[in-house]
Amino acid sequence: MEFESILLPGVEDKRPIIISGPCSAETEEQVMETAQKLAEKGVKIFRAGVWKPRTKPGGFEGVGTPALKWLQRVRKETGMYVATEVATEKHVYESLKYNMDMLWIGARTTANPFAVQEIADTLRGVDIPVLIKNPVNPDLELWIGAIERLYNAGIKKIGVIHRGFSTNDKTVYRNIPQWHIPIELKRRYPNLPVICDPSHIGGKRSMIKTISQQAMDLNYYGLIIESHRNPDDAWSDSSQQITPDTLAEILSELVIRDQVQSTEDLSDLRRQIDDLDNEILQLLSKRMRVSREIGLYKLEHDMPVLQTGRYDHIRKDRVEQAEKMEMAGEFVLKVLEAIHTESVRQQFEVMEKAKK
Ligand code: PEP
Ligand code: MN
Repeated sequence: MEFESILLPGVEDKRPIIISGPCSAETEEQVMETAQKLAEKGVKIFRAGVWKPRTKPGGFEGVGTPALKWLQRVRKETGMYVATEVATEKHVYESLKYNMDMLWIGARTTANPFAVQEIADTLRGVDIPVLIKNPVNPDLELWIGAIERLYNAGIKKIGVIHRGFSTNDKTVYRNIPQWHIPIELKRRYPNLPVICDPSHIGGKRSMIKTISQQAMDLNYYGLIIESHRNPDDAWSDSSQQITPDTLAEILSELVIRDQVQSTEDLSDLRRQIDDLDNEILQLLSKRMRVSREIGLYKLEHDMPVLQTGRYDHIRKDRVEQAEKMEMAGEFVLKVLEAIHTESVRQQFEVMEKAKK
């Protein structure tokens, strides 16, 4: 795929390009005040959600079409370009009717090929930059599939937004970054601009700066950051929105390093190691949780903690498996022993607590 630049006239081609604005357009005043403050800070592309995909019904689902008029006003009065999220044919028609400059496809929509195809078909013949968020699930092929659907409909100004992936596990993130997925996408399509959404990855204000810096260190092209004139009062995603002042402060503190290919490759690889270590720790903690449940079961049924037959079987089975996976049996035995020791310790601990 040969992509064309997503840059709009007058926006400087300098990392990071910035897109900012509220999660949702709530009222005309909120939109205008936030936009004016952002424009004063030099932001050139304004975002606001007009139709809001909510996990459960009953939340604020967006103002809909009337809010597009407010975005038109932003465009006219501040000179900023305006961008909004589309998920259906109707959203696309309305957005084009009200002269949106840029569109994005939300994470839940990217996960649905029917919806992406509908958007692509509606956009056929229209020359507008479209940013495609990663699907909610960590599926690189599904993400690429969405890019292809738009590309095949003639949309050449394509960018992607990395907003992290949902998980049921407790983590410090709202959506775990799994950096290796966008990194692999970048590797396969070096001309595809990748924009990071630290707001939806972190889910809280305090994480925006760190995640933004990480994205810059990974050579991302831009950042999309949610901002609001009064974040505490936001009708959606309140805990992750920041004021335009805070945004300007964070941006001024970002360190943009020169793109040096060799260290860039190294930091890509290191990021993969960080991700994998994180996955190993999460798996270990899940395994310990199951061990504790077994401990309680054994206590209730008056069984001994250590059952040698079972442990011997596990050792043999896992070593055979590891050798097939190109790891030394001896190494894997050591790891298993350490895990087993900790499991037994946790079982004793949980049993002691239960007895008290
Ligand atoms: C948003 O950008 O406000 C949004 C709904 O994001 P996502 O699709 O990433 O959840
Ligand atoms: Mn949001």
